[in-house]
Amino acid sequence: MSFDFLSDKDRIFTNVYGYQPWNLKAAQKRGDWDKTAALIKLGQDAIIEEIKASGLRGRGGAGFPTGMKWSFMPKQAPLDRDGNPRPSFLVINADESEPGSCKDREIIRHDPHKLIEGALIAGFAMRARAAYIYIRGEYIREAETLFAAVQEAYDAGLLGKNAAKSGYDFDVFVHRGAGAYICGEETAMIESLEGKKGQPRLKPPFPAGAGLYGCPTTVNNVESIAVVPTILRRGASWFNSFGRDNNKGTKLFQISGHVDRPCVVEEAMSIPFRDLIEKHCGGIRGGWDNLLAVIPGGSSVPLVPAEQIMDAPMDFDGLRDVGSGLGTAAVIVMDKSTDIVQAISRLSYFYKHESCGQCTPCREGTGWMWRVMEKMRVGDADISDIDTLYEVTKQVEGHTICALGDAAAWPIQGLIKHFRPEMERRINERKGAGDAPMMEAAE
Ligand code: SF4
Repeated sequence: MSFDFLSDKDRIFTNVYGYQPWNLKAAQKRGDWDKTAALIKLGQDAIIEEIKASGLRGRGGAGFPTGMKWSFMPKQAPLDRDGNPRPSFLVINADESEPGSCKDREIIRHDPHKLIEGALIAGFAMRARAAYIYIRGEYIREAETLFAAVQEAYDAGLLGKNAAKSGYDFDVFVHRGAGAYICGEETAMIESLEGKKGQPRLKPPFPAGAGLYGCPTTVNNVESIAVVPTILRRGASWFNSFGRDNNKGTKLFQISGHVDRPCVVEEAMSIPFRDLIEKHCGGIRGGWDNLLAVIPGGSSVPLVPAEQIMDAPMDFDGLRDVGSGLGTAAVIVMDKSTDIVQAISRLSYFYKHESCGQCTPCREGTGWMWRVMEKMRVGDADISDIDTLYEVTKQVEGHTICALGDAAAWPIQGLIKHFRPEMERRINERKGAGDAPMMEAAE
């Protein structure tokens, strides 16, 4: 079955490569901030219903339906202990730190007004007083652009009192992080915004009940918010016309690794992996027979061997069906030159380094898993250690406060599931009995 590629007229991010300036004048020429007040006049409930109808699911990794998430925010402001109404907040997660992910960076540096306009509309829809954009500390130039774009919006009357002449008062604050991966977890981000150490909170309470400064808060990814104005302008049914059921819309894919042309590209959801790579990346380096494995959704999802991913639809359900996930759609392609055990061991080091240390299974388990992975890399282990390693990943998975424990466990589980023969080969080779084939995935 052939796939209908996204045509240029249906692209939301028309300046993702920065061929035009990012500034307000150029953004307005591209259609941003066009009759924003009229969109706001639709009313809170109508906006939320339209986003629900569009089928938009969160673009930050978890894929939770965006409109539904907004509907959890209170319609009546809760009162503080003095009887005063508490404000609500929107927090925008621009802490893009997942290895492989680089789409929010492109939005912020080349199309920041899509995000800022989206913040106003989404903030209004959830009755928020202000939005905080939490941007990754290493994104220095991107933060400069974002600060300047927000200032432009204030100067033009698009933010602040009577924002965009909508009758709604709304502020946007940009907050720079300091380089901790864990601050991308929504409750750690809230802690960090409050000036505390960025460590995830136990849930419940969920942020919609008690988030930033104890007030109702929704945390959304940059891409989830930046697509909102276009969805409202073009209609839920337009957005809904792309992708399979339950996997709707367009999506920024970020393809890195062993392809001829790594890129960030907006495509329709559910594009088959092979079409995505052939059309936008010039194919696999050395040809399709040279493909070893793919990490399809950023480093925290399990890898998928070549033969299983070739024709998989690149969406939430399609990648779940091959034992992985869409995550942020950060597609890391590895050809047969990759030392797959070393690659996963390197990811284990990353998660060990980024563990905040609150929960014992994560604090101790990530370090232990990395040390054993290093032994696996050089074959300095027994065959039974592979099973022990797998069991430990199962003890970490699902037994921690936040998803970092899962993120550390899943890549190793994927490796053992698909490349156990390669791990055994190294062990046997070190023991002087190696005769297994190199770097082939298990059937
Ligand atoms: Fe911290 Fe890890 Fe626990 Fe998350 S799982 S709260 S990163 S120790």
